[in-house]
Amino acid sequence: MSKRDHYEVLGVGRDAGPEDLKKAFRRKASEFHPDRHPGLDEAGRREMEERFKEVGEAYSVLSDPEKRARYDRFGHEASGGGGFDPGAFQSQFGDVFGDLFEGFFGGGRPRGGADLQAAVELEFAEAVFGKEVLLQVPAPRRCAECGGTGAKAGTRPAPCRRCGGAGRVRVNQGFFSVAAVCPSCGGRGTRVEHACPACRGEGRVRHTRSVKVSVPAGVEDGMQVRLRGEGEGGRAGEEDGDLLVLLRVRPHDVYERDGNDLVCELPVSFTQAALGAEVEVPLLEGGTARIKVPAGSQPGRVLKVRGKGVPDLRGGERGDLRAHLVVEVPERLNPRQRELLEEFARETGEPAPPRRKGFVEKARRFFE
Ligand SMILES: [Zn+2]
Ligand SMILES: [Zn+2]
Repeated sequence: MSKRDHYEVLGVGRDAGPEDLKKAFRRKASEFHPDRHPGLDEAGRREMEERFKEVGEAYSVLSDPEKRARYDRFGHEASGGGGFDPGAFQSQFGDVFGDLFEGFFGGGRPRGGADLQAAVELEFAEAVFGKEVLLQVPAPRRCAECGGTGAKAGTRPAPCRRCGGAGRVRVNQGFFSVAAVCPSCGGRGTRVEHACPACRGEGRVRHTRSVKVSVPAGVEDGMQVRLRGEGEGGRAGEEDGDLLVLLRVRPHDVYERDGNDLVCELPVSFTQAALGAEVEVPLLEGGTARIKVPAGSQPGRVLKVRGKGVPDLRGGERGDLRAHLVVEVPERLNPRQRELLEEFARETGEPAPPRRKGFVEKARRFFE
């Protein structure tokens, strides 16, 4: 397989300056960052590594004026196909792109408590007006007895034998030779000799606790609430993970949402639409509002009740209630009603009322 052009790999022009290169590298490299692709399988990870390797090599050549000049004149031949050494790359550029390398190069910090996922199902009105939900969260938390050290009261943890207390070891991981979290001590750098009886030296205990989730008014289906520190607890010196609560909102029989507006249908009889009327529309918060249906309203006409929609999640103005007129035509007529309507039809010159006439004419023009 032939190697791609370094400029092409970074997506920059031949005249790109050092800042352009840096930006391009950062952008490209972060595309292949493992954090961006959770749940990748082995082959996928390898692919990402290859892509990262490619941008790394391009950047290490183009950011070095001498190597770049040689590459511009002689192409890939100039570098002798030397490839890419991630270890050297990290020590050369690690301080510039520090945050980017975490994850690529195994990090080296203890991870602390993991983030946890939970889901909450809300009724439509609960999402509109807010609700407090109690969640039962079964997760390990820092042991209160030993403060998360895992060491029995009055004793202290000793340095880890494997990493000598550094918390990291060097391991080979595919093409990376990297500093990784010490597998013996999990990066803590310590070893417990006299275990805390409450957590058996784990530093954490498992139990189920109640977490109060305040769902603010105005949330929508699919939104997520992050509760800092309410996830899995960390051991001594580690951070607690977060609890991510996914909000699911059940649909409503009458209302739908359109942003902060509530939308519903408002059935009226054809005589109400023609003559005008005042009708009641139910409100989501309970009670009703009176709406004036102007005489001669057509089906689909939208009537608004200001300020009776959804409270704004960010503290802005509350939305409106929008009622769409549905004009109901009687399905059965008694003889008297039929007589009246037939008289009405004669009076208006049917069978060709104004709208219908226009429609017939338009249709004819279309076919001619
Ligand atoms: Zn303990
Ligand atoms: Zn260790």
